[in-house]
Amino acid sequence: MLTPAALPTPLTPVADPLFAAAGVELLLKRDDLAHPTVPGNKWRKLAPNLRPALLAGDRGLLTYGGAYSTHVRAVAAAARGLGLASVGVIRGEELAAAPRNWSLRAAEAAGMVLEFVPRSVYRELVVRGGEPREGYLVLPEGGSNALAVRGAAVVAGELAGQIPGLGERDLVCCPVGTGGTLAGIAAGLPPGARALGVAVLRGEGYLEGEVTRLHRAAYGREFGNWRIHHGHHGGGYGRVPAELEAFAAGFGRRHGVPVERRYVAKALKAVHDLAAARELAAGTRVTVVVTGLPDPLTDLSRS
Ligand SMILES: *Cc1c(COP(=O)(O)O)cnc(C)c1O
Repeated sequence: MLTPAALPTPLTPVADPLFAAAGVELLLKRDDLAHPTVPGNKWRKLAPNLRPALLAGDRGLLTYGGAYSTHVRAVAAAARGLGLASVGVIRGEELAAAPRNWSLRAAEAAGMVLEFVPRSVYRELVVRGGEPREGYLVLPEGGSNALAVRGAAVVAGELAGQIPGLGERDLVCCPVGTGGTLAGIAAGLPPGARALGVAVLRGEGYLEGEVTRLHRAAYGREFGNWRIHHGHHGGGYGRVPAELEAFAAGFGRRHGVPVERRYVAKALKAVHDLAAARELAAGTRVTVVVTGLPDPLTDLSRS
């Protein structure tokens, strides 16, 4: 059986002198606590896709990702929980013969069959959103499809019940990888409240296009209450500059929150720096969505 998610996830205020000095309130939406094996926003995006797969009588789930993809591991864990097969199409033919890293090992341990493809083939597959396969529900790279966006919108729905008067003075902030999470949060917010996405990779223009495409796919319309900040990707996906590392470690220590580095740290640092630069109006209430957990320690050795 697939363990049910612990929803709504907690909302916790954070007392931070720098935010206080700027007249900005900081809250953390602890989505990292949503589910033991399908963490954070991966649960939000995957959950709405599972019911249709079961109803359609699919044998399994198939998706795409890189060698350390959290989404790939999440799909493997969800499939196992539901008694479904799973296939992960992995970028990098050369990985087939190499010893498995911890992430791919975890996916295989959950029963996932891995198929390694050359990078050029992979790119070609993902731009098309994947390739149909008989008996499988095919999920795009990163898991962001129309149903996933609606699942992410539930985060905003929960916030409306947790933050009195959620509206004009609220900014809800999340990291942006493929944009599905930001698209859902923006769509789910009540009038007046705004969403701020923090890009974790170089993708100015492209990412805005993705969020707009996802809004059209999920809701048949566009939304005007969001924007993406591009100043804190730290050099690209997976890059964690020393300054960001120091900030994340300090924030985690001071506030007792495990800070995932590739995504969550960049979002936190961005709102921190915006507050410090007085670019957030005094009286703003900022909720940062903690979209996931740090990788296990084995990641440090890349073993
Ligand atoms: C996958 C992931 C994201 C990216 O979410 P998108 O919906 O692809 O933008 C953000 N945060 C964490 C922790 C993730 O694992």
